[in-house]
Amino acid sequence: MHKMILKPDVIEEFRIALRGELILPPDTNYDEERKVYNAMIDKKPGMIAKCTDVTDVISAVNFGRENKVLISVRGGGHNAGGLGICNDGLVIDLSNIKYTHVDVKKQTIRVGGGCQWGDVDHAGHAFGLAVPAGIISTTGVGGLTLGGGLGYLTPKYGLTIDNLLSADMVLADGTAVTVSADENKDLFWAIRGGGGNFGIVTSFLFKASPIHTIIGGPTLWDIKHTEKILKWYREFFKEMPENLYGFFALLTVPGPPFPNELHGRKMCGVVWNYTGSPEDFDKIFQPVRDMIPDFEFVGPMPFPALNSMFDPFYPKGLQWYWRADFINEIPDAAVAEHVKYGELLPTPHSTMHLYPINGAAHKVGEEETPWAYRKTNWSQVIVGVDPDFANKEKITGWTKDYYEATHPYSAGGAYVNFMMDEGQDRVKASYGKNYNRLVKIKKQYDPNNFFRVNQNIKPN
Ligand SMILES: Cc1cc2nc3c(=O)[nH]c(=O)nc-3n(C[C@H](O)[C@H](O)[C@H](O)COP(=O)(O)OP(=O)(O)OC[C@H]3O[C@@H](n4cnc5c(N)ncnc54)[C@H](O)[C@@H]3O)c2cc1C
Repeated sequence: MHKMILKPDVIEEFRIALRGELILPPDTNYDEERKVYNAMIDKKPGMIAKCTDVTDVISAVNFGRENKVLISVRGGGHNAGGLGICNDGLVIDLSNIKYTHVDVKKQTIRVGGGCQWGDVDHAGHAFGLAVPAGIISTTGVGGLTLGGGLGYLTPKYGLTIDNLLSADMVLADGTAVTVSADENKDLFWAIRGGGGNFGIVTSFLFKASPIHTIIGGPTLWDIKHTEKILKWYREFFKEMPENLYGFFALLTVPGPPFPNELHGRKMCGVVWNYTGSPEDFDKIFQPVRDMIPDFEFVGPMPFPALNSMFDPFYPKGLQWYWRADFINEIPDAAVAEHVKYGELLPTPHSTMHLYPINGAAHKVGEEETPWAYRKTNWSQVIVGVDPDFANKEKITGWTKDYYEATHPYSAGGAYVNFMMDEGQDRVKASYGKNYNRLVKIKKQYDPNNFFRVNQNIKPN
């Protein structure tokens, strides 16, 4: 615990230095502002600095360091383990650093450090451009990018970090630097997967790629077909062209817009994103239709519509319990566990996803970025989710049991953005052979581990 015992004039000086608001426990908006996306996380920080610009971030970093205050950095606040917030310390909140600028000529998008992915989708779409990110638009650009970034455009354009051109950062000593392939190269390497361990990114510059209208959406089968569909999917996956993306899911069908007869039914499914020529779609998609889905909702739509399709089903404020693994292969024994735990889905929001890591993401070397698991095929995530705190045991129990049953078939580490607090060995396993280089860079730029509320890379 880092109880914040500071003299009122020190706090007042900090408040005056900030352009943004400084929120303390007695303030009426404190309880609302300390909330993060995952309602299972209930931390009570000593203060929250709502930074408006780089200068505010520098002031907050200097204040934290000089007063030996624990700090956490919050981008979109979506993190599985609630790593945007801390008990007693200072939350450096970036959510008001929100801007985008599309450079059509250079095909780039500059993005403020506190944006959500929906902001980037919205900005790029008018120009027929997109940056690869995840499968939900409310996720923060900051955390998702710094951890890697897996989603609908992975096979076509790679991970989010593969599209990062440069970033402006505030380091632990309060200096502001730009990192890119030409400037501060070691830091540029480290932030492409190493999370928030090295500094606070106030601005990202991404390469944007041509994406406008895609053909996407889910195909669903009754849960009793899981064995057949998962065995088919694991083979079809290997033949899928880079223009076709599909993540596998075990789920319970929510309400509208799904048809009434499906509401509340446990199903397995694949959510697709096809980015190739529309004339070729029917031919490429025929093998999926040959599996005779019980429900198909696949059609042309603007890319931002696909990326926000599931937002309404997963609003802020649900209880989430997470477990993850990287997966090379899905042997029959693992399929059997998926069949078992799919039938046991404990609540309507709980789910299991297998996110592909393929195509362009495979073409980047294992040591080119800290993201070591380039050759693996899927990032598996098991999430027990429910609005009701009373169901906490039910969702955590199912998630842990499911994880224990499938973990023996995994590749070792897990995607850091899908992990809760699972200890240092797990962080090391997730960075594999890149961990030592990350430690070296951490030692150089953050020797006192000032940035430690994250999947922590310890400097010693
Ligand atoms: C519903 C849901 C769906 C998701 N889907 C996907 C997906 O499809 N693909 C995927 O890759 N991930 C996905 N994720 C995981 C997501 O990438 C992580 O939760 C990520 O940490 C969220 O980033 P954030 O900025 O919202 O989080 P926060 O909680 O704000 O921060 C997470 C971590 O990043 C650090 N951080 C955040 N912003 C900055 C910054 N600007 N500078 C320095 N450090 C920063 C924080 O200090 C913290 O350690 C999903 C998460 C949820 C809840």
